[in-house]
Amino acid sequence: MIASAAATSTGQHGEFEIQATAAYGAGFEVLAVEGHARRGRLILRHGTVETPVFMPVGTHGTVKAILPASLREMGAQIVLGNTFHLWLRPGLDVLQRFGGLHGFMGWAGPILTDSGGFQVWSLSGAAQISEEGAKFASPVNGDKRLLTPEISMQIQRTLNSDVVMQLDECTPFEAHGHLTTELEARHSMELSLRWAARCKTEFTRLENPNALFGIVQGGMFEHLREASLESLVEMDLAGYAVGGVSVGEPKEEMLRIMAHTPHRLPAHKPRYLMGVGTPENVVEGVAQGVDMFDCVLPTRNGRNGHLFTRYGDLRIRNARYQTDDRPVDESCACQCCEGFSRAYLHHLDRCGEMLGPMLASLHNLHYYVNLMREVREALDARRFAAFRKQFEADRARGVA
Ligand SMILES: [Zn+2]
Repeated sequence: MIASAAATSTGQHGEFEIQATAAYGAGFEVLAVEGHARRGRLILRHGTVETPVFMPVGTHGTVKAILPASLREMGAQIVLGNTFHLWLRPGLDVLQRFGGLHGFMGWAGPILTDSGGFQVWSLSGAAQISEEGAKFASPVNGDKRLLTPEISMQIQRTLNSDVVMQLDECTPFEAHGHLTTELEARHSMELSLRWAARCKTEFTRLENPNALFGIVQGGMFEHLREASLESLVEMDLAGYAVGGVSVGEPKEEMLRIMAHTPHRLPAHKPRYLMGVGTPENVVEGVAQGVDMFDCVLPTRNGRNGHLFTRYGDLRIRNARYQTDDRPVDESCACQCCEGFSRAYLHHLDRCGEMLGPMLASLHNLHYYVNLMREVREALDARRFAAFRKQFEADRARGVA
């Protein structure tokens, strides 16, 4: 078992020791339902995740500027790792020495890794896609690389991710100067289905005890998404994601797909909406039946002085905060809001001090994690509809 090997190799880290737990990939139960919205519980090998959940993104094996201890303290339950980047750097032989990503990054909780596909399409525009996989030049050193469904499964096995994503071709909204046509979206979706089947075969051959999720594609075409969903469900995977949203489409198009696809996924399996999004989009996603979310917004925006608060967004660079002695968000209990003023954050930003992005990222992540805690409490109390109304009114009010 990889898990026990990991415990040996990382034993010196004490509390980060990896516990081998259940032998199954993922258990999921729905605890409460309100409309399409669900309150659930996802059981993974490195821990239990209460859903709906927001998953902080840790691209290079680190949630940028945040210590794992701070993630635990704020109540983050599961983080994302990036297959593509970790494969290229530090590489699999290093990760293997640590029994996978948990021991290497000092995070003992659940980890979800993407398949690497999205980065191939978005970072190296010159990737050549064939039936076999995607050929590209490494952005690190220019080496020619080939990512196939089998290789993606092998990398994610080495990472020992709790949730393994299938390799898919993310259908763009627009490419080569035109909107993706139905024929292009169909070819891309069908290729993703064939890759899903190959992923499942390899995942099984590797005797991976974690959970494999499929990804529904089909672009902005509902009938293609239904065909994709139907074929993936036949493969009986541990969970299902909705991909190909938040890929440059107008907001109405994204909302149309969010209203169409998630609630059609199997009710007894976890549902993951990839790469979405703003606090409003996440709450909308919950209302449409989504259980899991990830997005770079809290950390990326934090680094740019863009802070999320209960009463709308705050841009700390604005001169009006130069003498403002209030915390970023008076209703927030994070270390940033408990210890520091807007004026201090404004000052750190002006001086380009490292603590500025650290505090801003900490606050933003705390905001998202806490928002999901409130969503879960509302679902537990069967008052999600009222919660959502209040949430939207508060956010629209604007920062004082
Ligand atoms: Zn705060």
